[in-house]
Amino acid sequence: MVGWEILRGTMLVQVAASDMGLVPANRLDGLVLTGSDVVADMRNRVHVGDKILLGDRERYLHENATAEAPFGYRADERNLLPTVGSVGPDTDPVLRELEAQEHAAAVLTPTGLIAAGDIRTLRRALNLFARHRDDRLVLALPLGTGWLRSAWFPDFKKLLLSTEGPKALSFQGRDDPFDEEQSVAKLADMLDGATDLGIVRTGLAGVGAFALGAAFTAIGLTADQRHIPVPADTEPPKNLVLVRAFLSFHDAGDLNLALDPESDLAHCPCDVCGPDQPLNRFHGTDTKHADAHNLAVLKMLADELAEYPTRAHRTEWWLSECEEAHARLEELNARQVSRAQLEIPPQLQQWAKLRS
Ligand SMILES: [Zn+2]
Repeated sequence: MVGWEILRGTMLVQVAASDMGLVPANRLDGLVLTGSDVVADMRNRVHVGDKILLGDRERYLHENATAEAPFGYRADERNLLPTVGSVGPDTDPVLRELEAQEHAAAVLTPTGLIAAGDIRTLRRALNLFARHRDDRLVLALPLGTGWLRSAWFPDFKKLLLSTEGPKALSFQGRDDPFDEEQSVAKLADMLDGATDLGIVRTGLAGVGAFALGAAFTAIGLTADQRHIPVPADTEPPKNLVLVRAFLSFHDAGDLNLALDPESDLAHCPCDVCGPDQPLNRFHGTDTKHADAHNLAVLKMLADELAEYPTRAHRTEWWLSECEEAHARLEELNARQVSRAQLEIPPQLQQWAKLRS
């Protein structure tokens, strides 16, 4: 384990451990692997040479954090965890995690989901983290829907910024949590002046957050890894395609209807697509092809961002790109009233507005 500083300035891919073979080694800076058996999976991945690995047991999918035990294990879960070295089942869960994840670059605390407005639990998690003070440790803060709303945000921001040390924020939502009104402005507000906030299990908001100064980010390979799903969400997984020109994900079926395969907009500059493969080619519910293209587009965005030396440059670049992408989508929809329209994601509208 090398410690959390290795994460600074990195853009990672968040991926279910069962899908890790779908991420080529040269895509982005490393992986956040998710899954209940992630310790063994990390060991395997180390053998194929990934430089930055984090493990996420996704405890927040099954359990809310409480002020009494923000990192605690459920009683019935203890028996499922590996016994490692001298660490027994009653050991502090954070220490246990540190010992178990020897193959990780740094360790995410096993935090449960913190329900919106539960300031007491948030404060307790921050206090416990401050007390542990270990360079290998990153405080994971999986946040329930609503923390970025006005009712909770001022207290939330104050608490976060008053505790030193790296924090990995993730947000729950039915689709993209940053489609919710005002959430992008709140994210930008939070990042202004912060030096150690990371945004993980996210989508395009992770690229934006990175441009605006997030310490690190992890972007999901598949839609369910780009937010914390709400419980009992029975909607079938969508086949979402990231379009560089529109800086947003679109449903494959919608793209098929809206884009003329002969048009410039149907052609993607990424190294997966090439000149003969238009963006209309993705079909059905098998997302593997679209995921490979999406990852290549994210790599392009990461490379473009890397060309800008300062936070101010990167912010300016990102916001102007969003403004242009928004204008392109509006123009496309205005031009082809007889053809299917493409939805303009609320998140993109918010980024585009942030500049003015
Ligand atoms: Zn492509």
